[in-house]
Amino acid sequence: MSQKEQVVILGATGSIGLSTLDVIARNSERYQVFALAAGRNVDKMTEQCLVHRPQYAIMHCEDAAKSLRERLTGSNTEVLSGTDYMAQMAAHCEVDIVMSAIVGAAGLIPTLAAVEAGKKVLLANKESLVMSGQIFMDKVARHGATLLPIDSEHNAIYQCLPSALQQDTKQGLSQFGVSKILLTGSGGPFLNRDINTLKDVTVAEAVAHPNWAMGQKISVDSATMMNKGLEFIEAKWLFACQAQDIEVVIHPQSMIHSMVQYTDGSIVAQMGQPDMRTPIAYGLAYPERIDAGVQPLDFSSLTAFTFTKPDFARYPNLALAIDACQSGQAATTVVNAANEIAVAAFLNNQIGFCDIYRVNAQVLDKSTLHSLNSVHEIMALDTQTRMLAHDVVNRIR
Ligand code: NAD
Ligand code: MG
Repeated sequence: MSQKEQVVILGATGSIGLSTLDVIARNSERYQVFALAAGRNVDKMTEQCLVHRPQYAIMHCEDAAKSLRERLTGSNTEVLSGTDYMAQMAAHCEVDIVMSAIVGAAGLIPTLAAVEAGKKVLLANKESLVMSGQIFMDKVARHGATLLPIDSEHNAIYQCLPSALQQDTKQGLSQFGVSKILLTGSGGPFLNRDINTLKDVTVAEAVAHPNWAMGQKISVDSATMMNKGLEFIEAKWLFACQAQDIEVVIHPQSMIHSMVQYTDGSIVAQMGQPDMRTPIAYGLAYPERIDAGVQPLDFSSLTAFTFTKPDFARYPNLALAIDACQSGQAATTVVNAANEIAVAAFLNNQIGFCDIYRVNAQVLDKSTLHSLNSVHEIMALDTQTRMLAHDVVNRIR
């Protein structure tokens, strides 16, 4: 390759951001970091800028940017702040690839900017697709962006699809003999815990995922299985299918990352270590393959693989998200926003673990759902829902 591909990482200091930089460092002859964006972790960002020497570093707020600027005195990295600059860098004409790995709704605007600029977009930030599904996918098609799923399940499904469908999922799964998407999930840390004790779950217990090391929000979402609910909605949009085409399967070992079932009885699965560097490397190099630093599975040391159906009494948030998926865009936008507030309140010890569902269900119940026709309307509903969710949290605590 003559010229290196220029990469922007939105959410550089997080778990996905770190893994992305690790894969880039292993393949430095192919990729160069153009810009890094993050929330407020100045220590981590300083370290990353000194190692990867991006042209730009963008922090969420000016306070953090000011402190980063001081730390980077003498370096060639220009430090900026705010969502507008993140969006500008994601759409910059010199950029080839954008990793979307900001957590939550904050990722929507810069991710859409990358889509509108027709970039190769590696989507880890599932919340942006949950919030804006149809509008997001329409923009991908209209602007000729290449959308590659990084969420391990969706990346696995993508790998199990015929290449004609990978190029254009809108053609419809059934055209290619796909009869079902089997979305696997580990069940999180409380798969076997006495259901009557879930109300006593502590933050430390909830963020300790048995198989994956991830950011705090997605770790709590995995414990409630709201994560699988968000992924259910994500799959519907990514693969242009309906709720009845997707089945959630509990697979506690997290070695099979998801499966695609075909009409002839074949089921194609993607397997590997539970290490996000595999889907990240797949996305960066697609359709080629590069070193991700991940060891292959050692079949001589694997123990039994088990599979069960999810228990909705244990995981009411999963049922709530699947219902919202069937109900439509406004419902999924509301669930996403309510859940972000509820999870933040749980992480701040303001509400209990089981209250996360209570907040989500009450907010959805109190919301008026109408059709959403623009990003502006989506953001307005997101803001309004967050206020409602804060009220519900304050009443519960
Ligand atoms: P994390 O909490 O470790 O990192 C989040 C990143 O977003 C950090 O760099 C943080 O500084 C940045 N950020 C937060 N608010 C911001 C804002 N307002 N503006 C700019 N940057 C902001 O989270 P993570 O685990 O890396 O997850 C990131 C995204 O990827 C989430 O949407 C998550 O659902 C998705 N994802 C993560 C994993 C995983 O294994 N970690 C797997 C699949 C999907
Ligand atoms: Mg996932």
